[in-house]
Amino acid sequence: MYVAGQWIDTEKKIDVLNPYDGAVVDAVPCADSGDVEKALESAVRGARTMAKLPGYDRYRILKAAAELVEARSEEFAEIITLEEGKSLAESRFEVSRAVQTLTLSGEEAKRLHGETVPFDGAPGGSGKFGFTLRVPCGIVVAISPFNFPLNLVCHKVGPALAAGNAVVIKPATDTPLSALKLTEILLEAGLPAEGIACLTGRGAEIGDALCSDRRVRKITFTGSRDIGERICRMAGIKKVTMELGSNAPVIIMPDADLEKVAAAVAATGYTNAGQVCISTQRVLTSEKVYGDFLDALKPKVEALVTGNPLDVGTKVGPMIRERDAIRVGEWVQEAVASGARVVTGGARQGAIYAPTVVADVKPDMRLFCDELFGPAVAVTRFDSIDEAIALANDTIYGLAAGIFTENLEWAMRFAREVEAGNLMINWGPQWRADLMPYGGLKESGFGKEGPRYAVEEMTELKLVCFHLKS
Ligand code: NAP
Repeated sequence: MYVAGQWIDTEKKIDVLNPYDGAVVDAVPCADSGDVEKALESAVRGARTMAKLPGYDRYRILKAAAELVEARSEEFAEIITLEEGKSLAESRFEVSRAVQTLTLSGEEAKRLHGETVPFDGAPGGSGKFGFTLRVPCGIVVAISPFNFPLNLVCHKVGPALAAGNAVVIKPATDTPLSALKLTEILLEAGLPAEGIACLTGRGAEIGDALCSDRRVRKITFTGSRDIGERICRMAGIKKVTMELGSNAPVIIMPDADLEKVAAAVAATGYTNAGQVCISTQRVLTSEKVYGDFLDALKPKVEALVTGNPLDVGTKVGPMIRERDAIRVGEWVQEAVASGARVVTGGARQGAIYAPTVVADVKPDMRLFCDELFGPAVAVTRFDSIDEAIALANDTIYGLAAGIFTENLEWAMRFAREVEAGNLMINWGPQWRADLMPYGGLKESGFGKEGPRYAVEEMTELKLVCFHLKS
């Protein structure tokens, strides 16, 4: 791992396992509180260096890093598949998105600006001249989840560096290799030695020390709701961005093109074995097309080939750990015991859970009200747009939602009334362009990612006022 300007090792190691067959892919150091202290002490110096680095230099470093990631796309794609288990095609797509994210972040390094403040509009304000200055926070701690081990790290590190901060990365323990490689590339691209640290170690062991430290001025976290809540408690008075979980709904109105909807649900419910925060989980379907929709969806889901994610034909690989596949099976069985029915799937082999459709799911079932984060969708019927919107909002989460309809009135009601940060009309909730403002409402978190918006979260605004004689 990279701490205090040096690559270091520890005696205690953590094995990184291939989720498909459990083989050891690599081993990484296991950081402890002493390593956290070393990283933060160095990051204090790193933050001073970064704040002095001109925007154009920060742009050049991020642009060079984007080019290096692009040049090593295949290497990165293979690492992602080996540590995370998504199909090679999905890993390649993640790498191409990471190149975008770094490129966009680099551009933002040139655009940090404040604005003039019209003091003369205030009583007694004449003779004053003022403006705002946007300045870096200082030390940013970036804590990332396992499911997008490269691009989600770029969404934190890119804007943090663009804004002139030093950044301490804490990647997910299951998937630390992409973040380590990215650190290597940023240094190769010219990043000052103390501008970054990458600590591999268990969140449960080093998380509190990292998050509660007063030298840290900003925490950017992507992960589960419960860990997010703990981090908020530990953080005390500092800036925090929370990108948390979801059980994203899609609404199918009676006028929707069911073939198109079925293709979209098959595409957005099972990517990365359903381990995407905005995966389609709850499929709210009009009573009028309920049976026809299930008939259209079933063959499309059955066509999703499962297997070794390194094989070209594989669409759906393993879940990150076998115990997650077991959990998905338990939730499906629990729903069935309460009256739901499995339309297709429902079987498990090791960490692979077959792409599954469960129909007749009720709002009190875990498949509906909790975050599944697995390759199954829960289908629920409704009578009217009012009921569909109420069901969509019947959750503590609010990250993303979709609707399929040709009716403008229904689409606008959905956009206005559904409580979610990202709203897709005529597509499932799982869609993201890296430049867009992205983030959740309710307990899906707060603060936005997308480099332009994240840079605002990674900076502070100062107000300057000249009290002039005339
Ligand atoms: P997780 O278990 O919450 O872990 C996320 C990160 O937090 C990991 O790096 C983890 O380290 C660390 N962590 C654990 N305990 C900590 C503590 N006490 N203090 C500080 N950090 C701690 O989540 P995950 O299983 O990796 O990812 C899945 C979750 O992420 C889902 O809920 C998903 O919806 C959410 N997610 C949200 C978005 C979004 O944009 N909103 C995107 C992707 C994923 P260890 O690995 O060492 O435990």
